[in-house]
Order: sequence, then C-alpha cells, then structure tokens
Amino acid sequence: IVNKMSKISRNLYKGQSIAVFTSGGDACGMNGAVRACVRMAVYLGCQAFMIREGYQGMVQGGDQFVKATWASVSSIIHVGGTIIGSARCKEFMEREGRKKAAYNLVQREINRLIVIGGDGSLTGANIFRIEWTGLLDDLVASGKITPQQREKCKDLHIVGVVGSIDNDFCGTDLTIGTDSALHRITEAIDSIASTAYSHQRIFIMEVMGRHCGYLAMVSGIISEADYVFCPEAPPPLDWHERLCSKLQKERECGQRLNIIIIAEGANDLNGEPITAQMVKQVIFDRLGWDSRITVLGHVQRGGATSAYDRILACRMGAEATVAVLESTATTTPVVIVLVNNQIERIPLMGAVERTQAVNKALQDKDWAKAIALRGVAFQANLQALKLLSQTKTPKPKVEGDGANEPFNVAVMHVGSPACGINAATRSFVRTIIYNGDSVYGIRNGVLGLAAGELKPLIWSDVIGWCGQGGAFLGMNRITPEGRFPEIAHQLREFKIHALVVIGGFEAYRTVLALTMERPKFMEFCIPMAVIPSTISNNIPGTEYSIGADTSLNEITKICDLIRDSARGYKKRVFIIETMGGHCGYLPTMAAMAGGADSAYIYEEKFNIHDIQRDCYNMIAKMNGGIDRGLVLRSEGANKNYTSNFLERLYEEESNGLFTCRTNILGHVQQGGRPTPFDRCLATEMGIACAQFVREQMKKAVQPDGTVLATTKHSSCMLGLMGPEYKLTPMEDLSHQTEFHLRIPKIQWWLQLRPLLRILSIHDSAYADN
Ligand code: ATP
Repeated sequence: IVNKMSKISRNLYKGQSIAVFTSGGDACGMNGAVRACVRMAVYLGCQAFMIREGYQGMVQGGDQFVKATWASVSSIIHVGGTIIGSARCKEFMEREGRKKAAYNLVQREINRLIVIGGDGSLTGANIFRIEWTGLLDDLVASGKITPQQREKCKDLHIVGVVGSIDNDFCGTDLTIGTDSALHRITEAIDSIASTAYSHQRIFIMEVMGRHCGYLAMVSGIISEADYVFCPEAPPPLDWHERLCSKLQKERECGQRLNIIIIAEGANDLNGEPITAQMVKQVIFDRLGWDSRITVLGHVQRGGATSAYDRILACRMGAEATVAVLESTATTTPVVIVLVNNQIERIPLMGAVERTQAVNKALQDKDWAKAIALRGVAFQANLQALKLLSQTKTPKPKVEGDGANEPFNVAVMHVGSPACGINAATRSFVRTIIYNGDSVYGIRNGVLGLAAGELKPLIWSDVIGWCGQGGAFLGMNRITPEGRFPEIAHQLREFKIHALVVIGGFEAYRTVLALTMERPKFMEFCIPMAVIPSTISNNIPGTEYSIGADTSLNEITKICDLIRDSARGYKKRVFIIETMGGHCGYLPTMAAMAGGADSAYIYEEKFNIHDIQRDCYNMIAKMNGGIDRGLVLRSEGANKNYTSNFLERLYEEESNGLFTCRTNILGHVQQGGRPTPFDRCLATEMGIACAQFVREQMKKAVQPDGTVLATTKHSSCMLGLMGPEYKLTPMEDLSHQTEFHLRIPKIQWWLQLRPLLRILSIHDSAYADN
C-alpha cells in the first residue's frame, strides 16, 4: 500500500462523490471499513455518502442517504456490526427495484459505489453495473432524470470489500470479520473448557458456516478439538464408530475434556446433514455418555472487533476508495483482497464465480474440488487439524538399526514470555512424536540446557497447552556465551540430533551464537531452528512473531477502555506508552486499530516540528468538536522526547482546551491467553519447524546414527512470509539485522504509516481548509 499511498495526494479527486454501504450479514470490522472509506474520501477531497440499510436504503432514498463528514465515522472503529445498518433487500433483486436505486443515486450525482458485503451483495452490485445504462435510459425516457444528469453519471463504478465472518470468499486470504468471530468462539471454548474439565464432559459446539468450514476447522485447531465436522471435508461413512472409539481411547488415556466442533452446514459423504443433536445421540447410544450441546449462534457476529479485523478493514476500506475513484469506463470492477499480507485488487466477478463454484462443488459432493478451490491455507489448516488430533502415533522406530534409529530432538524457550509459546511447543512435540522420533523439553532455557535439565516429553504431556499463556518449560533471557563447553557436553550426553529454540531476540542470538561456534564444537553441528515468538515482532525473517497479535489486542483493548473511561468528561488527550524497545510495530498497529491520532516510533525519526504539528492538529480536532485524543509512543521512540515530555507539551500548548494523561502499559501487554491468530500461527509454526528439522536430520545422518549438519541451511529462522512458512539461514539473517537496536533492517509494517496518518488527521488540520 505504501507505493499506492505515496501517489495519493490530498484533494486528488476534489468534487467527486462516492457512496458506501454494508449489505448481507453483518460482520465485525464493517465499521472500520466504512470509516476508512469515508476518511480516505475526505482526504481526497470527495463527498462521501453512507447509505443506510444496504440496498434497501438505496431503493428507498430520502434520508437513507447520509452525507458523511470526518466526524460521522469517529469512535466507531471498535464497535461490532455496522452503524449504518445492513439488510437483505428483495426489491433490489428485481429490475424495478434497481431502477429506483439508480434514480436515488443519480439525484445525488453518485456513480461510484463501494459495497461491503458477501458474494450475494457483490453479485447484486455487478448486475446493477451491467444494467446501469439501460436503467438510466428508462429514467430519461420516463422524464425522471434529465439527459444532463444521465451524462454526468453515465457509467457506474463499483468496488467490493468482503465482510463475512465465514471467510468463504475465494481470492482473499481473510475476510473482514473472521478474526473477530474466532475471538468469540475462542472465548466460549475457553469458558466451556474449564467447566467441562471439572466434570469430565463432552461438549459439542456448533459454530457458524453454512457452506464453509473455515471457522469450524480453525476452532478445532485452537481448541484442541477431538473431532471436527465441516462441510468441505465430510467424515468417512463409519464416523459414528470412529468418533466413539476415539473418545473412548482418550478417556482411557486420562483425558478429562472432549470437544467436538460442528459447522452448522456439516454433512456426511452422501451430502446428508450431520447435526449436533445427531452427534449427541450417537455418543449416548454407543457409549451411554451424556454430552452437552452449545450453539454459539449470533454471539459469533457480535462483540468488540479484533485488532486484526480493524487493521484489515482500514487497509481494505482505504484501498476501495482509491480504486473506485481511479475507475474509468473501461476498468474491470474489482474486489479488494488480502493476498500474501498485501492489499490487492482482483476482478470482482472472477472471485465471485470461484466462490460460487465451491458451493456448486459441495452440492455435487465433489469434496476434493471444494477443498482445492478454498486454497492452500485452507488445505494446510485441514492437514494440521488431522495431524494434531491423532491419538494413535506411528510405531516408534527401533533402536539399534543405524540410520533408521529414532532421532532425539530438544526444544527450549529463550527470552521473555509471549502468548502462543506453549501452543507452538505442543504442535512441535506432537509432530516430532508423530514422525516416530523422541523429543526432550529443556527447562529454563540456556541455563537448563547447560545444567542438563532435559526431560522427555510424551504426547499427553502437552494436552491443553494450545490455549495457555506463559511458557511451561520455563524461560529467561540468558544467551549461551561463556557456556559453550557445558552445552556441548549435555547435547552429547543426551544424544541430541536437533535443537529448536522458541523465543524472541535472545532465541535468535542463542542459535546464531551456537551456529558460529560450530567449527569449535562438533556437538553444535546439528540442525537448529528458531520459532520466533515475541510480542515486539522485531525478529528478522518473519512478518509475524508468535505473541504479537495477543499483545496488540491487549493494547487495543486498553486504548478502548481508556477512551471510554473518560466519556462525557472534559476534553482529554491520552499518551500511551507501549513496550517493544526500538521496534515501533506495537504502537503503529495499535494506533491504527485504536483509531489513535499518532504514533511516535524510533524508526520514523521525529523532531520538535513534527510534535508541534501533531499538537496543533490535535488542537484543531478538539476545536472541531472531538473530545478525545489518543497518542501512542513506543518506549524506545526517543530518549529525550519522553511520554512525560509529550504530555506536558500538548497540555501547555492546548492553552486549557484539553488536559493530558500518560499511561505506561506494563507487562499486561504480554497478555493472559493467546488470541486465535497466535494459537493458529504457533500451531502451524510448530508443525513447519518439526518438518524442517526432520528433513535436515535425514540429510545429515551418518551411518553410525549420529547427525553432522554443517551447511548454513541447517540452522535457520522459521518465518511467515506472505502465505508461506520460510526458513532463512541464520548466517543470511545476520546481515538483515540492526543488532544494536534489536530490529530488522526492513520492516514490512512501516508501509502502513502513511495510511495511519491519512485516517487519523482531522480535515480541519490541513492548511487548505
Ligand atoms: P452473507 O455472506 O452474509 O450471506 P451476502 O452479501 O452474500 O452476505 P445475500 O443475502 O446473498 O448476502 O445478499 C444481500 C443482498 O444483496 C440481497 O438481499 C439483495 O438485495 C442483494 N443481492 C444478492 N444477490 C443478488 C442478485 N443476484 N441480484 C441482485 N441483488 C442481489
């Protein structure tokens, strides 16, 4: 978006009008998208209209069309649902209804529309666009509009943004609302898990997803579910037997809690529905066990919008406004999507057709096609679910047969706690065991390794780890310098063939240091890897670290609380200081998610003139009727321009207009329990890392069963880069790191800074007003 944003200048489309509306089922994040559309339009000098109640409002006209200002979309980014309403409109399905809608638009000289909704709403918009000329001809012929009005609005430009909790739209990695729905599901599952655990209960949870099993599948991964029923991957016909024998085996192994997730549209291989009630009955009939059904229903649509959805909505909404204004008579209509962590435009109807093709494949019972059409990420989730919910592990390999002996892998945590470390450990341990190898957990990081605190971990040791915060193996920030001989000794004693370290910058330093010492210590010539896990998100080689999303959500929640706490009170500006050292990821993203005014960070140098400008912007905004200001600042932003300095400066310059308060957020930012995003990321990273070390051990195994790994590719950082998990050699990574600052040289999220500014600066602050 940076390249696109850098070409966008203020008032570029002065005099134009656009309209935005939400349609179909509501989803958290729709408000953020509306806000971004409107604010970007204001920035570009356009008149933005908000149409209430979707197509219904467009057909009705009158006061359903609202002229939006900067302030109309103030304080809505965190609110679930859609403040402008959404409806299903039968009238718009007919040409007559669409003619009325066309009339209402032309009356206001609007021919650029942003539709935020699902595939039905986007299809409707496309039909409207195709018919547009004919509709205008009819309106001219009946004297309802003049030929001049017709000429002014002769083409209809439409852009789609997908808001849907189901993540059922092909072409985008995520739709707005899915992450928030997963938050609601996770909260419910966590609550249920504690009661279920007390009573040895089986819980059957029905989640939304008429045609798409994404919510069910991801819920299954993050809740450690025993069985998941989703439409695209029906269970074998003998599922009754399989389900019951699995539950029985788990009880025999001492598992007290069983969770079964079922999508509302689940079916068997014949396409016959499988309902929660049926599952309950099967368990009762075969095992005589009682189970409880929880249907989450509309709870999944509600609540506060997650930080991820807010940011996604900001990015998609802003891009939609630019796209609809850039559109010409020959432009193919587009839908805004997220691909490889970038916001892109793709042809709208191609994506709608692919989405509808999945539904067709489901109707045709062509399950393989449906899964293929859902995309690579969906398939990877399905694989992860299958692997982690196994109870039967493959037969262990036999000791003493040379190269086929089981490998011993060790895992430890180094650095500060971040939510998701346990989830990564769990999936890593299970994948290693699943492959027939053994895994040792190292207690207390490098100190424990040097002291020989290694304990074997078995399948059941990691039950329930996915949703827990902290680090069960224990961790600290000590790195291995000065302890190399002891570490080498323990690795030799325990015959460790690969080492995995989960943690932040110290974890990176640890593996880098051991790799550099390979020429001196043969014991370090084993495959090694880091799973990045730190709230600061300051690790090179990955776009996201485990724990950063949880932290971001905690900060965003605190921003919401702080803002709400002072509601109805006098005008006030809050300065919020976040963790992260020199890395400005958390304040930048939290500022975008929290709808803050600015975020001071180390990476974007600022001086007194910048602070002065921001301060006067704040004064302009407060004079414009806004009561609340939020300013974020990373702890390492600048050693002299401290939070306290900002507080005093803003307050002094406001000349009594507002007061200021500083909040320094402490360890609460590390979070209590991981978010769905972090649980999922951690689970997938654990699996990817286990696969990596296995491949490397196989490559480097010697005839006597020892492992000798010396290539740079045998010691890597695991990272999520775009859609893929990539492994970057430590050696290469060190060139990409500012070690003294503990940040990567290139940080992808810096590209969002211009957008943050555009969305946050009040229009009265610009000189041209
Ligand atoms: P969700 O994912 O929540 O179902 P959706 O956008 O697919 O969202 P729909 O109920 O299919 O929801 O569509 C919403 C509205 O869009 C409809 O009530 C109707 O007004 C309009 N619409 C949908 N399909 C068409 C169509 N083929 N022609 C004209 N209008 C349509």
